[in-house]
Amino acid sequence: MRKIIISLNLSLLLLSCAPLWAQGQKHQKVIKLMGSRFEITAIHDNAQTAWDGINAAIGEITRIEKLISSWDPASQTSEINRQAGMATVKVDAELFQLIRRGLRISQLTDGAFDMSYASMDRIWKFDGSMTAMPNAETVAKAASKIDFRNIIMNDEASTVYLKEKGMKIGFGAIGKGYAAQKAMEKMQSMGIRSGVVNAAGDLIAWGKDEGDKDFKVGIADPKDKDMVMSWLTVDNGAVVTSGDYERFVMFDGKRYAHIIDPRTGYPTTGIKSVTVICPNPELADALSTSVFVLGKKQGLALINELKGIECMIITDEDQVLTSNNLEIQKTDNKQLETAKQ
Ligand code: ADP
Ligand code: MG
Repeated sequence: MRKIIISLNLSLLLLSCAPLWAQGQKHQKVIKLMGSRFEITAIHDNAQTAWDGINAAIGEITRIEKLISSWDPASQTSEINRQAGMATVKVDAELFQLIRRGLRISQLTDGAFDMSYASMDRIWKFDGSMTAMPNAETVAKAASKIDFRNIIMNDEASTVYLKEKGMKIGFGAIGKGYAAQKAMEKMQSMGIRSGVVNAAGDLIAWGKDEGDKDFKVGIADPKDKDMVMSWLTVDNGAVVTSGDYERFVMFDGKRYAHIIDPRTGYPTTGIKSVTVICPNPELADALSTSVFVLGKKQGLALINELKGIECMIITDEDQVLTSNNLEIQKTDNKQLETAKQ
């Protein structure tokens, strides 16, 4: 079987971090956080330091989940949603800034990315419980509540207001990337100069792997998510894959991804997976979702306009498309094994 490997020199793309040297051993924890599988890795010669860093990262992710979860009724996000169409809600600066950045991505993507997609989560369920297509009227009614322009922010008062009753926001497409970034910063502040935070496919790596090697990131094959389809060398930066192979529904033989097109209220079709490579995991997370909505043509055009950001798209027909500066070398298994080492 032919496999592909992406050969990309990320150091050209990424922020001008000084090269960090690591001589340590690998310490790793796999843990369920934010409803997802997190893999937190520290490379350090002192096991205590490594584990202190990993535990601090877990604390940080848990803290962020409490702030942004729209499932937890006690979160500030839930309060914003409860007060939709009624009152402004004062929020922490951190949440305020996250929403602000999210709105900038909505502008950049012309509304393909929209945190107010969440009014649809009463209709579309991607946990296998849906048996029939919802009726068009119900979809249209809920979709009419999606509009990022109706997320009103007041800088001075640090408040957020959802203008319409029935509106709802959610951070499903940006929260894991944000948490990965913050977990990395926490670990760095504790002296972990090399590591990886992998939030269910939203990954940030910094420094060097064991033995002073570059980190190799495997990108899952949409046909078999336990198989690696391609490998990517990363020294400092984020590799985020958004795929529909874990959460989707099938109607009449057509596959609908768990990503909603805000213009229609229907799940997107046509793309199986999008991988975005850029310095920041939060941006990569939001953009991977956006490319799903924009589709292959517009999605690639957007990514090609953005400096230092690359992407790979796999379509429903298993076509592999890449942005201008991403090169894919086809390789056989033997080469793949070498790449892994
Ligand atoms: P994954 O969870 O597989 O990493 P994504 O990062 O692409 O996937 O995020 C998908 C999630 O984003 C959905 O489950 C939903 O919570 C949310 N979402 C769906 N559609 C949109 C949209 N158009 N804009 C912003 N967020 C969305
Ligand atoms: Mg995303």
